[in-house]
Amino acid sequence: AMMSHEIRNPLNGVIGMAELLSNTTLSKKQREYLDSILLSGETLLSVINDILDYSKIESAKMELEYRPVELKRSIEETFDLLSPKTAEKNLRLEYYISPDVPYYIMGDSTRLRQILLNLVSNAVKFTSRGKVSVSVTKTSHIGDKIELQFAVKDTGIGIASDKIDQLFQSFYQAGSETTRKYGGTGLGLAICKNLVTMMGGKIRAESLQGSGSTFYFTI
Ligand code: ADP
Repeated sequence: AMMSHEIRNPLNGVIGMAELLSNTTLSKKQREYLDSILLSGETLLSVINDILDYSKIESAKMELEYRPVELKRSIEETFDLLSPKTAEKNLRLEYYISPDVPYYIMGDSTRLRQILLNLVSNAVKFTSRGKVSVSVTKTSHIGDKIELQFAVKDTGIGIASDKIDQLFQSFYQAGSETTRKYGGTGLGLAICKNLVTMMGGKIRAESLQGSGSTFYFTI
């Protein structure tokens, strides 16, 4: 985690300066090089952020907050972050919250959004046509404790049945050409699994190769 901090600070400097440079007059060639610096910088930053989170969880340095969370807002904010991507790919984003799910729950909204963002951005990344949907249902209610199930469903490339069990391992990517074609670190789902476990839940996936995947998690 400490190493990641040491790398992230100068990297933010590089990206920030490259952004300033992009507001100056540049030749076509220079702009091309600069775009490449920015893209690589942002990719590296997201890898480092994943590693930072992962190592915090691994070393049990991450603590969850316990505050009111407005579920609808968590989902909408996740969708907002992904709307440029979905608009570009012409994908629909939908959500459904079952009427018996409370408007507010107590929990950690930042970490819940992180789980949703990982799952929904994977769904968007691996889908070229159709839609991505999130639904929330109540699966149990005992005293003042409730269990919620989230389902993130896409109509994308799907996952081979023999790969499903390994998805939640760190650095795992299904398909040998995934990294080259789609990027990523293979840490997103491992982080989700850890966060879901910290929230007392479970995560799993169902998929039919070629017709889409659904990731279910409870909290
Ligand atoms: P990353 O996306 O950074 O590679 P993840 O841990 O989020 O890492 O995902 C691991 C792998 O699981 C991905 O590389 C991909 O092969 C597969 N995967 C995850 N979500 C989906 C999805 N919605 N559709 C198809 N494949 C998926």
